[in-house]
Order: sequence, then structure tokens, then C-alpha cells
Amino acid sequence: MSLAPAYCRVCKQQNISTWSVAKDYEYFSVDEEFTYYGCADCGTIFIHPIPVDQLKKIYPSNYYSFANKSKNIVVRLKEWLDKRFFKRILKQLPDQEISVLDIGGGTGWMPDVLKKTDSRINFTQIVDIDEKAKSIAEENSHAYFEGTIENFETDKKFHLILMLNLIEHVADPLTVLQKAQSLLAPGGIIVIKTPNTDSWDARLYKKSYWGGLHCPRHWVIFSEKSFRQLLQSTSLKIKKLTYTQGAPFWAFSIIAALHRQKIVRISAQKPIIFHWLFAPISAVFAVFDFIRRPFAKTSQLFIILTKDV
Ligand SMILES: [Zn+2]
Repeated sequence: MSLAPAYCRVCKQQNISTWSVAKDYEYFSVDEEFTYYGCADCGTIFIHPIPVDQLKKIYPSNYYSFANKSKNIVVRLKEWLDKRFFKRILKQLPDQEISVLDIGGGTGWMPDVLKKTDSRINFTQIVDIDEKAKSIAEENSHAYFEGTIENFETDKKFHLILMLNLIEHVADPLTVLQKAQSLLAPGGIIVIKTPNTDSWDARLYKKSYWGGLHCPRHWVIFSEKSFRQLLQSTSLKIKKLTYTQGAPFWAFSIIAALHRQKIVRISAQKPIIFHWLFAPISAVFAVFDFIRRPFAKTSQLFIILTKDV
């Protein structure tokens, strides 16, 4: 047993307690349980201790291919919505030429979409630890750095920096944000997508398993409040903050709960995303979250940041 943390990893206050004890129900990469702590002051939820020494295990070689295989109707709908969303975002950039940095971008699916959306994009850089993604990304003419953003060095500045479901995976989100800030061109924007702890499903499933934990791969999970707190240590400003549908988290939570009650079976050979219930549950909750999005906080935050006031 390791000692409980003394203070919140984001706001540094001491008002923290055990939030959830979770296992890897999604990939069964490791058997052990992990403790997540919650901060009563800012709402951050964080894993402790951080399993840094188990990276190879908790991101098994099939992790990325799993993620890319499920192209069901919900994934396609999400891609279509993302495309529309980014078209609007790119319009806000006045530059004649746009360079894009996708942190954790894998094979470069999103920059591929963006290039089709806006012909001003003339340079796309991907930074990712996935060694298998490199050749595909380069074939599609993206520059690829295999490693973490902390270790990425360049003279270039970027007009659009993407951190889609990335910041919750790192041990030190502040350093990553500051690095992104240093790589941002004047007038450029950073787009962040990350889970939100201040959501109905997070509260509902914390006792069994909340999909937003993506245990043990999500290390620091924010609320709107704690994200704003983190930004105070940077010179970044929020241009826009909205909520988007968190259907996969609902599906992970519900299927994990059914598994714990021995109603359905999931295993390392058949992880949750291959379960037949995954697509229908995701579809139902995509609609549910889409409808309530204007007046409720869903479990996914979408944030646009800029350096300029
Ligand atoms: Zn806190």
C-alpha cells in the first residue's frame, strides 16, 4: 500500500479523499486495483501513485489498433461532427498559411481531415509515442516525432495545436500546457478535449467504474473549475468552453457495471469496445447527451485556448 497523496495535484489544497478504486475493465492490461483521489475544492480526480513504471503494460501493443478498428455508426457520426466543428474553428484563423500540431495524434487521422477541410494548411506535425503510427503518418505526408511533447524540439510555431483526449494521460498537465503555449504562433489556438469529472455519469458510476477514468491510463481528470485553475499558471486564455457528448464513457461505465454484476462477460480477449452492447449503448447515450448538452454538463469538455487577450 502506498501513502495517500498529501494534496491535490492541480490546486495544491489538502481537501482530498478516495474517489474510486478501479481496475482496467477496458483492456485488462494489468490485474491490480488503482486508487483515484478527488479534490473537494477544485473537482480534480487523479490516480495515485502514478503507474509510470508500467507504461508498456498499460498501453499494450493492441491498444492503438483496438482504438482504430471500431468504425461503427457512432464513431462515424462523431467524425462528421468533428469535421463540421473544425471547419468553423479554422475559419477563425486569418493566416494565409496554417501549420497544425497534433499532440498524441497517432497516424494523423485528424490532420488528414483538416487538410481536406482547409487548403491553407501547409504543414502538419504529429507528436506521439506510438511507434507503429509513424510510417502511416509519414506516408500521408505528416511530419512525425516519436516521443512525448516534453521532448519535442522545433523552431516552428503552430497556428492550430490539437490536444484531443491527451492531457488526462500525462503526469504533469501544466508542463504540457506550457510547452504547447511556447509552440503557439501569434493569434493561434489550442483545442483541448478532455473528460469532465463534474458530470452526472461520473457521480453515478464512481462506486462501480466510471468510463472517464480509462483506468489506469487517465492520470489527471479535470472539471471546468480545476481546468481554469490550472490555466492560471500559464498565459493562456479560454476563448471558448463547451461540453460535448460523452457516449463512450456511458458505454464503458454501464458494461463494466453489468460485468461486475456478472450479467455480461468481458475479458482481455474481448474488451468492452468489442462487446455487442457497446455500439447500441453508445448510440443511445450519444443522442441523450446531444439533447441535454445545451443545459447540462456532459462528461467531455471541449476547450479552445489562445494566448491573446
Ligand atoms: Zn484541487
